[in-house]
Amino acid sequence: MRAAVLYEHNSPLVIEEVEVDPPKSGEVLVRMAASGVCHSDLHMLRGVHPSPLPAILGHEGAGVVEEIGPGVANVQPGDHVVLSWLPYCGHCRMCARGRPNICEDVAWSEVGTMADGTVRFHKGGERVHHYIATSSFAELSVVPAQTAIPVDPSLPLTELSLMGCAVATGVGAVFNTARVHPGDTVAVVGCGGVGLNCVQGAAIVNAGAIIAVDTEPRKLELARSLGATHAVNPSNTPVTEAVRGLLGGDGVDHSFEAIGNPATIELAIRLVGRGGQAILIGMAPPEARVPFDALNVTFQEIDIRGCWYGSVRPPVDFPLLVDLYRGGKLRLDSMINTCTLDEVNDAFRAMESGEVARSVIVHGSDDGATRGSPGEDR
Ligand SMILES: [Zn+2]
Ligand SMILES: [Zn+2]
Repeated sequence: MRAAVLYEHNSPLVIEEVEVDPPKSGEVLVRMAASGVCHSDLHMLRGVHPSPLPAILGHEGAGVVEEIGPGVANVQPGDHVVLSWLPYCGHCRMCARGRPNICEDVAWSEVGTMADGTVRFHKGGERVHHYIATSSFAELSVVPAQTAIPVDPSLPLTELSLMGCAVATGVGAVFNTARVHPGDTVAVVGCGGVGLNCVQGAAIVNAGAIIAVDTEPRKLELARSLGATHAVNPSNTPVTEAVRGLLGGDGVDHSFEAIGNPATIELAIRLVGRGGQAILIGMAPPEARVPFDALNVTFQEIDIRGCWYGSVRPPVDFPLLVDLYRGGKLRLDSMINTCTLDEVNDAFRAMESGEVARSVIVHGSDDGATRGSPGEDR
């Protein structure tokens, strides 16, 4: 099968033939229909958050189950699935508390292997690593069965692929991590795939003011179309003053940072008002340190909270997100630019230049079942 392989940081992915092994116990082989191209893939490409090479990147995938390994009960061959990228053990302290996204026991997924420490990809007898258990920049991938969430086969897999990272993270941050209530005020700093989904998550729960912050006018426009009530561009407006001006001098109840840059994290904390919270979603570089007004955090009881993968519990949250999509409340097509596997390096360039909200690789021949709008044929 063909896959996009990263051999060396800061060099283009190589699109080539790779051998894929059959699934072992608890694993499934998935024929990928589509894969979003996410900033975390770019971080891996740039070596900011490195894991072992060579590796097949991509962690926002959807496809059709081709084969199941021994002991797999949650899916059957032929099932359409959305892939979550974070496996969990199900029995550690965090899993038992209903927080599988911060499971204490899945370090293997970070070192580019499956649970037994081996890999299912090879090239000329050499190991090719997995990337956080998904590796969706490939025509076929072997993933832990628990990360394959079955979905209604009538829904378009191209759109559904975004559920795997951007939607789960952005909407999850609003629903699960922040628990935004109707009427609450919200700011979203960074309106790429994740930030736009924070915007639409906030709109779905009927937040009050939803203020989108980004330097790209096109992303701000997209944010407005997905429910932002205001848009602020830091390239021509002082953000803190603008946001407080919109709210009669107050800061927001919930500020979401979806970039991972120390300067924008600092901004997101500064935008929070009395009793509010800053939700840090973007992955900062390992050495990043952020200064903030500690006294203000104390006397205004401001929370600064991390958000890993939208605090999702995939078997519970993915079906809910799919239902919101089916009902037309969650909109995905407007943020998607499709491309082929061979164009993956161009997709990274487009991401770095801020041209597109989300590139989605559509694998193989599009048989028409992978693309469309919800409700089109029912
Ligand atoms: Zn991602
Ligand atoms: Zn666990």
